[in-house]
Amino acid sequence: MVREIEVKSVLNKQKHVDDWFLSGYSLNPYSGCSFNCVYCYTRGSKYGENQVPGLAAKINAPQVLVKQLKNRARKREYEFIAFGSATDPYLPVERDLKITRELLMIILRFHFPVHMVTRSPLILRDLDILKKIGEKAVIPSELVGKMDKGIVTSFSFSTTHEDLARIFEPGAPSPQERLETMRQCKNAGLVVGAVFMPLLPFLSDSEEHLDDMIRKVKEYGADFILASGLTLFGEGPQDCKTRYYKVLEEYFPELVTKTRDLFGDSFAPSRTYQHKLHQRVTRLCKKHQIRNKVY
Ligand code: SF4
Repeated sequence: MVREIEVKSVLNKQKHVDDWFLSGYSLNPYSGCSFNCVYCYTRGSKYGENQVPGLAAKINAPQVLVKQLKNRARKREYEFIAFGSATDPYLPVERDLKITRELLMIILRFHFPVHMVTRSPLILRDLDILKKIGEKAVIPSELVGKMDKGIVTSFSFSTTHEDLARIFEPGAPSPQERLETMRQCKNAGLVVGAVFMPLLPFLSDSEEHLDDMIRKVKEYGADFILASGLTLFGEGPQDCKTRYYKVLEEYFPELVTKTRDLFGDSFAPSRTYQHKLHQRVTRLCKKHQIRNKVY
């Protein structure tokens, strides 16, 4: 049973427009995420500080969003609104509750653009509204001439290999389901991307694994790729750092020390690793002729 909560604000203005997702706002219809990925960075990090424990639906989100968007539209503060930063907008409960759908209808009314990030085929239910948002949204001034439409849909993967995904993303739709959903969004005329976040050290970050991932997402219609490494936060039993090492110990004990060495005392892998990963992704995107940014 999902809990219902009331919130004072649902649209968060970011300090800066996000270079990767192009968003100036983030919006999360739920608090918590039942997809339960082992590496989920909202657990143990500052991103999860405002989350209530368990899964909860922000039941008054539509009324709150109307007020917030009316205000932003009056000041013409049009920016992309990113869904999916702290919870998937298409969790199984959304099928009945339809909060995401209601929020999209409000966004359409106020002509704001959207970057939807999900792992779920349930997004297909809302293709009608997403397409209309793409046509009607006001493109933010800094993106005029770069973006034709006010809608981007992205699908996140830490791997496209089913066996690995079952271990690290036990509650999420399978990579194959995501790929097929991506293809349907592409066929509907939407810009689609594959977000490789996070790539798992020594598991899905190798030249061969990445090559395979990029080839696959391109085959299913991806227009672009965004990729970054793993981050690990917190020491509590439910924090992602604790959970990640626990899973490594169970399935890949030979990687525990290597991974600890890679992170040292930091929440992120060494700079050298990050630089190499970035170079690898850039090189492979060139090889497969796919962008490594949204436009
Ligand atoms: S889908 Fe995203 S928000 Fe949900 S558990 Fe996985 S990483 Fe966290």
